[in-house]
Amino acid sequence: MEFNRIGVVGAGTMGNGISQALAASGFEVVMTDVAQAQIDRGLAAISGGCDRLVKREKMTAADKAAALGRIRTSTELSALRDCDLLIEAATENLELKLKLFRQLDELLPEHAVLASNTSSISITRLAAVTKRADRVVGMHFFNPVAMMALVELIRGLQTSDPSYAAVEALARRIGKSPVSVRNSPGFVVNRVLCPMINEAIFALGEGLASAREIDEEMKLGANHPMGPLALADLIGLDVELAVMQVLYEGFKDPKYRPAPLLVEMVEAGYLGRKSGRGFHRYDQ
Ligand code: NAD
Repeated sequence: MEFNRIGVVGAGTMGNGISQALAASGFEVVMTDVAQAQIDRGLAAISGGCDRLVKREKMTAADKAAALGRIRTSTELSALRDCDLLIEAATENLELKLKLFRQLDELLPEHAVLASNTSSISITRLAAVTKRADRVVGMHFFNPVAMMALVELIRGLQTSDPSYAAVEALARRIGKSPVSVRNSPGFVVNRVLCPMINEAIFALGEGLASAREIDEEMKLGANHPMGPLALADLIGLDVELAVMQVLYEGFKDPKYRPAPLLVEMVEAGYLGRKSGRGFHRYDQ
C-alpha cells in the first residue's frame, strides 16, 4: 500500500504542520478547512515554518517553493475525493469527528486509509462509523509538528496489519519516529502529560504560586524545557480540556477531573497562544 496524494482535514495548528511535513517530504497534499480564514492562516504558518527551516539550513528556498507548490487547498470536502490517505486534524470534538468520518468514508476511494490526529478520542469508535474499519488508524503527531519526532500510531480493535504498516512506513518517510500504542483514552503521552498540566492549573487556582513562578519551578526543579502552563498555552486550553474530559469519562476516575480554572479559562475564550491569551499573554 503506497500513498501518493494525501488529504488533511483541518488547517489549524496541527493540520498545517502535518501538511507542511508531508509536502516537504515530496507528497501531494490537499488541505481543507471549513473556514477560508483558517486556510489562509494555515498557509501563512506553513510559509513561516519553512522560512525557519531555511534559516537553519534544513531546507533551501527552492525546497520551500516546491513544498508550497505541492499543497492544494479547499473549503470543500469533495476536493479530497482522490486521496489515498486522509489525515483528519479537525477540532477535538467527538460528534464533529464522527460526522466527518461518515462523510469521508462515503467520499474516499475504497482503498484509502483514514487516519485521525485526535489527541484522545477512541480510534475504535471512529472506525466503527465507517465501512472501512480495518483501514482506520490513529496517527497522533505532536506540536509543533516540524520539531517533534514522535508519532503515536494507534490501532483500533479493527485496524488491519497492512493499513498499520502503510501508515508506519509513511511516518518514517517523513522523518518521524513512530511508536505503536493500543487504543485507550489519551493514548500514552497525553495520559501522562495532560494530568500533569491539569495539576499545575489546580496549583495556580489554589494560589500556590503565580503562573510565571509555577513554570519557572518546573523548568528549574524538574528540568522541563518549558513550564506546564506555557505548554498548555502552546497546546491550546480547549485541547487540554477536551483531553481531560476524555480521560475523566473514559476511566471514570476523579483523578482526571478538569481543574475548575481550566474550564473557566476556556469559557472566557482564553485558549492560549492561538487566541493571544492563556496563562500568559501573547497579544502585546
Ligand atoms: P485548531 O483549533 O488549531 O484547528 C482545528 C481546525 O479544524 C480549525 O481550523 C477548524 O476551522 C477546523 N475544522 C473544524 N471543523 C471542521 C470540519 N468539519 N472540516 C474541516 N475543518 C474543520 O486545533 P488543533 O490544535 O490543530 O487540533 C486539531 C486536532 O489535532 C485535534 O483532534 C487535536 O486533539 C489534535 N492534536 C492537537 C495537538 C496540539 O498540541 N494542539 C497535538 C496533537 C493532536
